[in-house]
Amino acid sequence: MTELGNQEHGATEFAARLSQIRARIAGAAQACGRAESDIELIAVSKNLDDHHITTALNHGLRVFGENRVAEAEEHWAHRRAQFPDVKLHLIGPLQSNKIKRAVALFDVIETVESAEQIDEIAGQCARQNRSLSCFIQVNIGAEPQKSGVAIADLPRLAAYARAQNFPIDGLMAIPPQGAPAGLYFGLLKKLGAREGLERLSMGMSNDYPTAIAFGATSIRIGTALFGERKQIPPP
Ligand SMILES: *Cc1c(COP(=O)(O)O)cnc(C)c1O
Repeated sequence: MTELGNQEHGATEFAARLSQIRARIAGAAQACGRAESDIELIAVSKNLDDHHITTALNHGLRVFGENRVAEAEEHWAHRRAQFPDVKLHLIGPLQSNKIKRAVALFDVIETVESAEQIDEIAGQCARQNRSLSCFIQVNIGAEPQKSGVAIADLPRLAAYARAQNFPIDGLMAIPPQGAPAGLYFGLLKKLGAREGLERLSMGMSNDYPTAIAFGATSIRIGTALFGERKQIPPP
């Protein structure tokens, strides 16, 4: 196939995947008495060739997740003016030396995990006259290699944010691989309720219907929407 032919084929496939995902979201929401409109679909556009993003935009998607600041700038900096209604979520770890750029680009930072980050994000928001929404990432399975605040440290971090008047809107987590995700989704919901945080970013391609049953308000979908992505070694 020609490159253009490939992309057209890709667009048809994308439309089919998107309608399947929407149908599963609707089914999962209905099964637990929730409104489909309460569940935000975040299209995870990391590690993808640029034409996938154009396809997603052409299909009306406006909420995207990226896990690296530099790649997100490549994907989105030149599109911001054309698509002012796009909302970008940072869903990967936030390094201290990238906070300035992250605050400039993202609308939501889902991966806050320390008081130092809260101070630096608040400082950059003031300097850049930006306001954004933040989530605390919880290391829900207590995995040494995963980011996020430990469950035991969450109350202190949430209290710190409240004391600073720093906007934390919810919690985000990635359950351990191979474990029954529902246990972890249920735990995250309980932790959120304890802190008075209503938004929950949980659920990915393999487990989003379960996450919806346990109260997810945002689901982060990459593979199920775009197909397999390129494997990029960690930085
Ligand atoms: C890559 C990624 C996703 C999307 O994962 P899929 O399994 O491809 O849907 C969701 N959340 C985070 C934090 C990710 O890094």
